[in-house]
Amino acid sequence: MSFKQITGNDELVERLRNIAGSGHIHNGYIFEGPWTANKKLVAESFAKAILCPVEPGEGCDRCRICRMIDDGNHIDVMFTEAENAETLKAKQKAEFGEEPVLNSRKKNSVKSVRDGNIELIQEHLAKVPIEGDRNIAIIKDADTVTPRAYGRFLKTLEEPPVGTVIMLLSENVKNLPQTIVSRCVKMRVLPFGAKQNAKSAGQAEKLVSQITSGEPYYCIKHTIEKVGKEREAAFALLDSMEEIYRNDLSGKGIIMDREYIYRAIGIIEETRDMIARKRNVAYALKSMALRIGG
Ligand SMILES: [Zn+2]
Repeated sequence: MSFKQITGNDELVERLRNIAGSGHIHNGYIFEGPWTANKKLVAESFAKAILCPVEPGEGCDRCRICRMIDDGNHIDVMFTEAENAETLKAKQKAEFGEEPVLNSRKKNSVKSVRDGNIELIQEHLAKVPIEGDRNIAIIKDADTVTPRAYGRFLKTLEEPPVGTVIMLLSENVKNLPQTIVSRCVKMRVLPFGAKQNAKSAGQAEKLVSQITSGEPYYCIKHTIEKVGKEREAAFALLDSMEEIYRNDLSGKGIIMDREYIYRAIGIIEETRDMIARKRNVAYALKSMALRIGG
């Protein structure tokens, strides 16, 4: 998929098109957005726009380079994501021919981007690119990288090998060390169109205005009950609410207090986490409405 297929992120895509087309590409980018936003697709399309020789700045989806990126086997583009220790162990063995030492059994079962993943990325970036003149690293689940691994990775961001492009995919940049964030260009990825149907947008508008005007909970309750117990519907509602608040931040809305908006967005993000961790949907939404309302 190239930029042409991405919907609902027009400003972002236009910005990335211009960057890729101009050839003035920064060494580090952070794509931030909720898990419902396809940040990986944006990053891969950006990689195509950078590397495609047929349609530079766009990506043609047909040439050998674009197809290799689609298949995940372009030699200069490395992708890593949170995984458990066993999967990583096999990879490291293939790369370094040795058994890495693993700490504890409990740690192994947790999915995260591990020190070993970052080590492989650094090895990759240190090599001379083979197909073109750029080495690209896409790190999904950047929120789960350990502080120790980030400490090591910081050196790569401070003195990147020539042609390096690093893309960190994060749900919330607050999870990343400030030293990393300050060295990257931050881009916001919104959930794609299909997830944000008109219904959830309407419900979100009603709910936000009810909360903002301080309506009592028994009124707000009716709006929440209409969303029901469906997790997907709740996620769509949260995405739409977050979009309303973010629009307010950019001066398009009615709420003027930025502190209030940041707090509301934080609460929405926590609510999304709660629902993702299989907490009761109705309870999570109720608690969100009460907390934002203060
Ligand atoms: Zn191409």
